[in-house]
Amino acid sequence: MIDPNPSTLALQIRKEAARLGFAAIGFAAPTPQPLALQRVNAMVDEHRNGEMHYLETNMAERANPALLLPGVQTIISAAISYNYPVEYRKGFPQISRYALIEDYHRVVRTKLEELLAAMQQIVGEPLAAFIAVDSSPLLEKNWAEVAGIGKTGKNTLLKVPSAGSYIFLGEILLDREIHSTPLTLPNYCGSCQACLENCPTGALIAPGKIDASKCISYLTIELKRDFTPEEANMIGDWLIGCDLCQEVCPYNQQASISANAAFTIHQELLNLSTEDILNLTKSSFRKLFYGSPIFRIGLRRLKRNARAVEENLKKMETI
Ligand code: SF4
Ligand code: SF4
Repeated sequence: MIDPNPSTLALQIRKEAARLGFAAIGFAAPTPQPLALQRVNAMVDEHRNGEMHYLETNMAERANPALLLPGVQTIISAAISYNYPVEYRKGFPQISRYALIEDYHRVVRTKLEELLAAMQQIVGEPLAAFIAVDSSPLLEKNWAEVAGIGKTGKNTLLKVPSAGSYIFLGEILLDREIHSTPLTLPNYCGSCQACLENCPTGALIAPGKIDASKCISYLTIELKRDFTPEEANMIGDWLIGCDLCQEVCPYNQQASISANAAFTIHQELLNLSTEDILNLTKSSFRKLFYGSPIFRIGLRRLKRNARAVEENLKKMETI
């Protein structure tokens, strides 16, 4: 064992995380988080989760991360930036930044695996660990806050100092105690209301409170059925996702940490017309989107979105 001291271990892990390009990393003890659980329950009870029924299940795991990793002593929370500039073309479908790059699940998981390997080298013995990237029942924004790497804003998204909210989160649950005093971060929003004022569908119903069933990201990504006429109208020119409540956030406009080099924008996706999308065959869809987050959505939903955007773009032309 090279260095079992939990305090210096934190420092060594931070250095490795910086080398791998993470914008922030922090450590949290897996203590009970009743307020965060209440927030998830309230979303479900008030039917603000739309068809995201996965939020109604696995509550025991959310409440107790030891069900994901028996003997867990530390939750490492890490953020990586995808804050790159995008110039959208007027009259073309808009695609959220997260979907213009390769699928972050694979990139973030690979980097967390590298970080875990480096940690095992440091301590000189195998560590029991569980890596999570977005798809595990873990209160990930909450753990990021407890670990002191960011604060959730009025748009419900985590903002990381110097990096903003265009970040992906990942976690390593570890069977080892790591001491590191988390920073106490201020509430960054203050009197700003820009995200609430600029959400085109009124999905941000109060500061820090979202009705997902009205959110363009939910409608274009999560909703599986066909749109109602009202929903089709609501998505405007967004083909996949929506970044409006992030674009207007001053913390993203001022972020000094830019996108990790692993994320390169697929510029050609910004030149796709609705006609191009509607003409895709199964094989051309696979060729164009394999390895992209858009591939997860599937061709049927992508065409559903494109049909709605096509109608909305026509209406916009006549205004
Ligand atoms: S992603 Fe778009 S629709 Fe959803 S809350 Fe933000 S601005 Fe509103
Ligand atoms: S736009 Fe303003 S209110 Fe919204 S998250 Fe950013 S700082 Fe907070």
